[in-house]
Amino acid sequence: SRGELIEIGGGFRIPEVIVQGGAQLIEVGTTNRTRLADYEAAIHPGTRILVRVHRSNFAIRGFTAAPEPGSLAALARRHGLPAVLDLGSGALVDLSRFGLPREPTIGEGIAAGFDLVIASGDKLLGGPQAGLLVGGAEAIARCARHPLMRALRPDKETLAALEATLRLYREPGRLRETVPAIRMLALTEEELARRAEVLIALLPDGAGAAIERGHSLVGGGSLPEATLPTRILALCPTGLSAEALAERLRRAQPPLIGRIERGRLLLDPRTLAEDEIAEAARLIAEALR
Ligand SMILES: *Cc1c(COP(=O)(O)O)cnc(C)c1O
Repeated sequence: SRGELIEIGGGFRIPEVIVQGGAQLIEVGTTNRTRLADYEAAIHPGTRILVRVHRSNFAIRGFTAAPEPGSLAALARRHGLPAVLDLGSGALVDLSRFGLPREPTIGEGIAAGFDLVIASGDKLLGGPQAGLLVGGAEAIARCARHPLMRALRPDKETLAALEATLRLYREPGRLRETVPAIRMLALTEEELARRAEVLIALLPDGAGAAIERGHSLVGGGSLPEATLPTRILALCPTGLSAEALAERLRRAQPPLIGRIERGRLLLDPRTLAEDEIAEAARLIAEALR
């Protein structure tokens, strides 16, 4: 769909990835409205696959339309074509139970009839950097036979980390404790405020620190419209620019990464574990010295 021609992180464009793979990409519909009939009208004897791509990092609102995922998969089946769903972030469970926006899950994609669901191992799943292909044995076997599979296959460490992460999903009720990415996403505002207060109390006066209300961006762009309320620690030290402080902290051991906004260095306690707060305070105090 013309509403799904997305550029993801690092300047990678899904349409260019598809064309690089040797396919001819046929765009259907319009930016805001695409109907099942648009796909149907574009199917011709050379058609090999129907693809739906999750709008990972942007949203289209207003006068919009898109076919139900299941109806696209059914259309593909009627024409004897495989249907592929690129989900991007790849939630395995419904994350709304953690107070996060509802995202389509990998299982829902399979249930809707897609032959392959593609998702990232390291976005919402919270595992290692990896690409997941989930689907029926025949579709997976065709991918596995491709000559490039040899170059793209994951190494043993990646597989081990992925397996360990997936095992945690056998107990979905405990994900908040067991998967760090979900733990950070699910932190409450009260808990974040408490962490910010613990941190600020450990800082020297020269840090010019203040706690403010702010927003965390979710999932490196994998949930475009989800910003979660948080408490920001803003640093405006005397006699040192935010840029200089940020650089010292980046070079520290371990590095501490913040973001600069209006001349202040902002730290979001969401990505600071409880047992890292004291160390963060030490790094800031050292950087100011
Ligand atoms: C992130 C993303 C990808 C790529 O996933 P990685 O495994 O992180 O490389 C592909 N498609 C969409 C829609 C994405 O959002």
